Amino acid sequence: MKFLSNAHTHTTYCDGKSTIREQIAAAQRLGFVSLGFSGHAMQGFDWAYCMSPEAQAAYHAELRREQAALAAAGAAPVLYVGLEQDALVPDAQKAKNRADYDYLIGSTHYFPEPLDGAWVAVDGSPELLLRCIREQFHGDAQAMAAAYYALHGTYIQIDKPHIIGHFDLVRKYAGQIGLDTNAPAYRRAALDALAKARQGCDVLEVNTGNIARGYDTQPYPAPFLLDAWRDMHGEVTLTSDCHDAAQMDYAFAETMAMLKAQGFKRVLRLGSGSALWDAVTL
Ligand SMILES: [Zn+2]
Ligand SMILES: [Zn+2]
Repeated sequence: MKFLSNAHTHTTYCDGKSTIREQIAAAQRLGFVSLGFSGHAMQGFDWAYCMSPEAQAAYHAELRREQAALAAAGAAPVLYVGLEQDALVPDAQKAKNRADYDYLIGSTHYFPEPLDGAWVAVDGSPELLLRCIREQFHGDAQAMAAAYYALHGTYIQIDKPHIIGHFDLVRKYAGQIGLDTNAPAYRRAALDALAKARQGCDVLEVNTGNIARGYDTQPYPAPFLLDAWRDMHGEVTLTSDCHDAAQMDYAFAETMAMLKAQGFKRVLRLGSGSALWDAVTL
């Protein structure tokens, strides 16, 4: 039950360390059957992080060339040209992305109101997030988390991406911002948002990127959310949110075993045939 795929891959076109070619080579070394690229979609701000319009066009063109070349050679992996799309991407651009790309990961990183001109991302600067909690949420980290979950759940419900991105990203700096992720209020907000998200999407990613980068020992989302998702008959896919080709399958073996122990019967991977998804039985 090796998981030979990854649908969440970044490159030097956004904030990744590895090129498209390096990521493909890593997938080939690992024997992957499929590989999906998910650069941060152009969103109109925070340019150090997302692609510029020119970069996104070049990213798309290069990936379509690589995709065609691998298909023509009958070589693995089957490539998918996708995007990780934030809730704040303008609507017209969202419609264009849906038409131009093979799949979309729906992720929420930012709050919709900048703080003195700075966009606050829950996975960005912990200092800025603390300031946001003080100034926009009266010092209440739970209120910030509840607002985050409301945004993310509603975004997925309405936008209907193919994959739900790192559902509980808001816990990334829990220790530093004084957020108790065992508090009943925290869990209630997260579970309410997950139920909403379930109405817009079948596939939740189990994302090991936070382990690879040393922020946590458990993937996103936390076990209580995975329990709830399983009970809602949702599907899961395993991803490494890969920014560095050396970490393409980081913690995949342990996470597959964890999902099996948690009662999941299968994990979806990007298809090696004509369908978007194949199932790997646990
Ligand atoms: Zn992300
Ligand atoms: Zn990502």
